[in-house]
Amino acid sequence: MHVIQYSGGIGSWATAQRVAARHGTGDMILLFSDTLLEEDSLYAFLAESAAQLGAPLVRVTDGRTPFEVYWATRFLGNARLAPCSKVLKQQPARQWLQAHVDPDATTLYVGIDASESHRIPGIRAGWTPWTVEFPLTEEPELTKDAMLAEARALGLTPPRAYEEGFAHANCAGMCVRGGQKHWRRLLECHPDRFVGYERQEQEFRAEFGDVAILKEQRNGVVRPLPLTELRHRHENARSARDD
Ligand code: SF4
Repeated sequence: MHVIQYSGGIGSWATAQRVAARHGTGDMILLFSDTLLEEDSLYAFLAESAAQLGAPLVRVTDGRTPFEVYWATRFLGNARLAPCSKVLKQQPARQWLQAHVDPDATTLYVGIDASESHRIPGIRAGWTPWTVEFPLTEEPELTKDAMLAEARALGLTPPRAYEEGFAHANCAGMCVRGGQKHWRRLLECHPDRFVGYERQEQEFRAEFGDVAILKEQRNGVVRPLPLTELRHRHENARSARDD
């Protein structure tokens, strides 16, 4: 059995293409862990690309959203540590694997590329006893733009986030692993989502003190950078530009 960790991102799509070219799709499963926060265009891409491949799309979910996990774990996800990924993606996927496939007869595929090869040992250890392969780390290397072009050439419409300039498409841009640039882009493209997350971060801060999704370093000191502060800076910079 060939099980692709199918997130709806273009990397996991390209991974499935490589596995299909090598092994066909007769024994392939596209395993999608739903954080309940994805954009409609990502859900559409998942369904259309799975139908085109002719492989079953299996959806698993914990049933909670990332912020619900932060409250439950009393820890606000950030670039260094994101409990949402473990609780909402890895754990439901593992439960499904344990219930449905034999580790001795199954290979998992994860869509990281060569620039992320340093993550391979950790990912392999995390998925024990399953064997994990990383087809995008093999030659020929594909850029994200090349993968997107390939998908479009096959008549698919990748998640809108790529057109908007995001490097990653998951959680509708509200990813705690994104840095300041990523969140500024979210503010530009989807101010409603930014403000919604800003409000949730404020509620979390009211309970747990000076914590934030983002951090910044000034004069050698690392400090939390709340979304409210990032938005104010962004707005001030914009009005200074417009003067
Ligand atoms: S995409 Fe980001 S916010 Fe969403 S589950 Fe993964 S790490 Fe968390």
